[in-house]
Amino acid sequence: MASHVRIIILGTAGAVPSETASLPAIMLHFEGNQILFDCGEDIQRQFLKAGLKFNLPLVICISHMHGDHVIGIPGLLFNFNMGDRTAPLTIIGPRGIFSYLYHLRNDIGLRVECPLEVREIQPDLKVMQVFTNIGDPSLVEVQSIEQNIVFRNKLFSISTMESQHSVFALAYCVQERPIFGTFHPDIAKLKQIPEGPLWKKLQRGKSIEINGKVLDPLMEGIIEPPVRGRTIIYSGDTMLGPDFSVLSPAPDVLIHESMYLTQDAKLAEEKQHSTSQDAARVASKIQARYLILTHRSSRYNDPAAFLIESQSIFPNTILANDLDVLELKKNKVLEKIAKEPKS
Ligand SMILES: [Zn+2]
Ligand SMILES: [Zn+2]
Repeated sequence: MASHVRIIILGTAGAVPSETASLPAIMLHFEGNQILFDCGEDIQRQFLKAGLKFNLPLVICISHMHGDHVIGIPGLLFNFNMGDRTAPLTIIGPRGIFSYLYHLRNDIGLRVECPLEVREIQPDLKVMQVFTNIGDPSLVEVQSIEQNIVFRNKLFSISTMESQHSVFALAYCVQERPIFGTFHPDIAKLKQIPEGPLWKKLQRGKSIEINGKVLDPLMEGIIEPPVRGRTIIYSGDTMLGPDFSVLSPAPDVLIHESMYLTQDAKLAEEKQHSTSQDAARVASKIQARYLILTHRSSRYNDPAAFLIESQSIFPNTILANDLDVLELKKNKVLEKIAKEPKS
C-alpha cells in the first residue's frame, strides 16, 4: 500500500491559458510513481515550480488529441532526454497518439532514450496497440483490454472508458490495489501454524497447505477481508452523459472538467463540455467523496463562481488552482497541503 497519494495540480485552464492558470495537467504521486493526466503546454516549467522529479517511473494518460492537452508532450520528452532519464515511461492515449509522436520524431528530431511504451487505445476499447519505438511503427503489438484496464503495477491499476466530447476522448481511473485485511496472529497460533513463511502467505490472503489440509485464511478468520484502495477518476474533456461509475462506483476523488458557468450551459452543450453544475451532478450521481473542478475557461473574472455553483449541488467541491497540492490520506480524507514557497 502506498504511504501517500498526492494530487499535484499543474494546469487548470481550458483551451487557452491565463496569467495564473496553465493548460491541462494534473499529476498523481503514488509512492515514487508518477501518473500525469494530460500534458498541457507549460508542463516543463510547472514540473520545476512544483518541485517534481524528472526521473521517476511515469505514466502519462492523454484524454484526447486536442492541442491544449498534448502540446506539452514534446517539450517534456526533450527535457527527459537532456537529463539522461533512465526511468520507464508509458504514454497511454486514444488513437492518434502514436502518429503525433512519430511525426515529432521525424519533423523535429524528438528522441526517447528511456524505456518507453506507447499504448494507443482503439475506439472499440477492446484492444490497444503497444509501440516501443516512436521512430518505428512496425514495432507494434496488439494487446486486448480486459475489464477496461490499460496499465497495472504492484501499487495500482489504470482503467479507461470513453467520455463524450467533440473527438474520441477517454476518462481514466487510477485504483490503488486492495489493502490486505488485518492479520490475527492469535488465531494463526491457535490453529498451530508455525510463524515464518506460512504466516507471510496468510497475511497476503493466500491459502496454505498444512498437515495435508488446505487452509483459506479468510474462511478461517485469520485475516479480515481486503479493503478497497484509494480511487481517483479523471474525466478529461466531456459533456454531461457518460456514467463514470463504470470505472469505479463511489470513487474517493472525481477530477472533472468545468469549462463553463451555468449561464453558458447552451455553449457547454454545443462544444461538448461541462458546466460546474454538470460536474457537481456527476459527482453526486456516482457518489464521489470529493470533486475537484478543473479545465476552467479563462473568460470568467471570478473563479469563485465555479465553486459556489458546484457546491449548491455537491458541497464537497474543491476548486483546483495551479500548483495546489492535495493529499489523499489512507483514511480517504483529502487535505490541501500548504504550498512551500519556491524561490
Ligand atoms: Zn480541453
Ligand atoms: Zn477538448
